[in-house]
Amino acid sequence: MHELTITQNILDIVLKEAKAARANKVTRINLVIGELSGVVGDCVQFYFEFLKKGSAAEEATVNFTLVPAELRCRHCLASFNPRDSIWVCPDCGSASLEVVSGRDCYVESIEVEQ
Ligand SMILES: [Zn+2]
Repeated sequence: MHELTITQNILDIVLKEAKAARANKVTRINLVIGELSGVVGDCVQFYFEFLKKGSAAEEATVNFTLVPAELRCRHCLASFNPRDSIWVCPDCGSASLEVVSGRDCYVESIEVEQ
């Protein structure tokens, strides 16, 4: 259900943008999915095939760009990519970390035909 809601939101955004650009048809949707967003690209693709029917995005393909998780240590300011679910700074061992990137899922751009 998680991805169904997200996919519906993505499609809403895409159709709104297409309308604002006075486009008749959306040909491509470029999506960014962060490793920590919890969004599974395959699921989005799956739901998109159903949701797009009858819309201006019916013939659109979805392109996924996966953004890896990046964390920063608040203690020594080292940046690193977590390898597993245990988040500890590899340099100083601190567990006080902040997420720099990889948390978001959003529509980066769309391509349309007038
Ligand atoms: Zn550190």
